[in-house]
Amino acid sequence: SDAMNIIAGALEMCKKNVKDVMTLIDDVFMLNYDSILNFETMSGIMQKGFTRIPIYQDTKSNIVAILNVKDLTFVGPDDSIPLRTICNFYRRTIMSVLEQISLETMLKDFLTGRSHMAIVRREVGVGEYEVTGLITLEDIIEEILQAEIVDE
Ligand code: ADP
Repeated sequence: SDAMNIIAGALEMCKKNVKDVMTLIDDVFMLNYDSILNFETMSGIMQKGFTRIPIYQDTKSNIVAILNVKDLTFVGPDDSIPLRTICNFYRRTIMSVLEQISLETMLKDFLTGRSHMAIVRREVGVGEYEVTGLITLEDIIEEILQAEIVDE
């Protein structure tokens, strides 16, 4: 039944961590902080269709902002506004977590925090981190709803 599958999914969730369900860094659509919001950049954003876009500076492990697509509502492609102007105006919360955090903890953080997306990092040296992916509330919900019970 559907209810059984959801319960199984919730139990399954307890055994998994962020790394198991995140979107890998190579598949994450990001923009450079130095970008200009011209026609090319804006049509790229619209084509991808994501709600939130991590903004990096210099390297992809240096996330300096999160752009929410709705922050572009009053931005026209002909104005060629620097992306940084919009990022600094809205200053969206950047949540970040370590790969090995459990999905249960991550879910609690999403439900009590100010964002439904987190940047996933791995420690590569003492106090040194590398971004390895991105996780949203959607990834966890999907994990819970996806579990299949094999009927006997
Ligand atoms: P959206 O509202 O943008 O569709 P969701 O939170 O519903 O985002 O997540 C849907 C899927 O897309 C999830 O697997 C999530 O990890 C992934 N995702 C969200 N934002 C991005 C992004 N900027 N680049 C790549 N994948 C993303």
